Amino acid sequence: MRESQSGTAGRNVVVVGTQWGDEGKGKVVDWLTDHAQGVVRFQGGHNAGHTLVIKGVKTALQLIPSGIMRDGVACYIGNGVVVDPSHLLLEIGRLEAIGLDVRSRLFISESCPLILPFHVEVDKAREALRESSGAGKIGTTGKGIGPAYEDKVARRALRVQDLKHPERFAEKLRELLALHNFALAGYLNSTALEFQPIFDMAMLAAEQIKPMMADVGYALHTANRAGANLLFEGAQGTLLDIDHGTYPYVTSSNCVAGNAAAGAGVGPDLLHYILGITKAYTTRVGSGPFPTELPMDEPGTVGHHLSTVGQERGTVTGRPRRCGWLDAAALKRSIIINGVSGLCITKLDVLDGLTEIKVCVGYALHGSRVDILPLDADDIKACVPIYESFPGWTETTFGVTAWDALPLNARRYLERVQSFIGAPIDMVSTGPDRDHTILLRHPYQN
Ligand code: IMP
Repeated sequence: MRESQSGTAGRNVVVVGTQWGDEGKGKVVDWLTDHAQGVVRFQGGHNAGHTLVIKGVKTALQLIPSGIMRDGVACYIGNGVVVDPSHLLLEIGRLEAIGLDVRSRLFISESCPLILPFHVEVDKAREALRESSGAGKIGTTGKGIGPAYEDKVARRALRVQDLKHPERFAEKLRELLALHNFALAGYLNSTALEFQPIFDMAMLAAEQIKPMMADVGYALHTANRAGANLLFEGAQGTLLDIDHGTYPYVTSSNCVAGNAAAGAGVGPDLLHYILGITKAYTTRVGSGPFPTELPMDEPGTVGHHLSTVGQERGTVTGRPRRCGWLDAAALKRSIIINGVSGLCITKLDVLDGLTEIKVCVGYALHGSRVDILPLDADDIKACVPIYESFPGWTETTFGVTAWDALPLNARRYLERVQSFIGAPIDMVSTGPDRDHTILLRHPYQN
């Protein structure tokens, strides 16, 4: 606990992905909520897929903060998140069906922009157009995320607070729909949508969402001042960040830790410790450059091993994830941008049984050596990884809970990664369950 002017305020942790998403943030957030009284999402939407395994039972969350799996933990959806009302209610329903109390401890910012059916249509139609025109798909999740953020930035979005005012909602919806229908029918080779079904759906959802609307930023501030530890739950990953990622093959929000403050509605002084989550290798879903990518089809190859042993399929879309060696040169950039205090390495056990393990420590680019991931997607495409090689281990690391119980070669591998990127490894995840965790330094206690 930290001292504030009014007494003892809580300590807060930000969890962010340092790669292209799917680093296993959900499991770590769930584990950490043992020490938190509030969990807040600050960007993205239901494009995220956070898989939690508790006592062998798997639950996939997309929009609702992972803290929902712990009794009594308050969950907040911050203003930086784009909310699809139909999906929100679907996800609440799924959690209620397994006996969870959701509505009494879920607080949704009134300022969240809404994702409506035309955003989904525009997202899909644009991807189809990019593909047919030869521009190549971004490989979006097709959830309407990008078009919803576009409306926010263009200052014409319908927001959660508009759900409270049917007339205002109808007026804004008519205007916005006209704009998107013009694009859908006139440019995107798709069809226009009707006003009434969208309005009716939104008004039905409004009745259920109204009791959960809140001034999230102020609620977080107040809870923290009263001693609550908060957890800021990032979605996607740094290399998918709209500004710092492999543009244009990125998502439409800032995924970096700095955005936790703006996207939750609190001051940056509340971000006390930044935990970067990193898979022991690298994966990516969707299109875009990926220097350490390996071919995955051939049984017996490393790519096939990572894909099958790691069960690398997208939680949201079911697409196979592209797999490759750990890219520590890309990680270096993520560590700097996020101001990472400590790292959690996940899925170490997937490397068990490999005879050789490689880590990319820089690239050859146009005849020169570079030590950090370049910013331009064309340059990244041209990067040839420079690897360091390590002997693997035959022992299983699955479920190991102590650093000293790891095979020597696994420890050497992790120690080299740590020294190369210049940030401490504070946690290691050795399996999907809550308990499959090695703790070296507790984010809430140091
Ligand atoms: P969008 O966020 O649906 O617009 O998709 C843009 C890019 O981000 C695509 O390459 C998606 O595959 C990727 N993406 C979005 N959300 C996630 C996620 O939660 N994990 C991994 N990749 C994601």
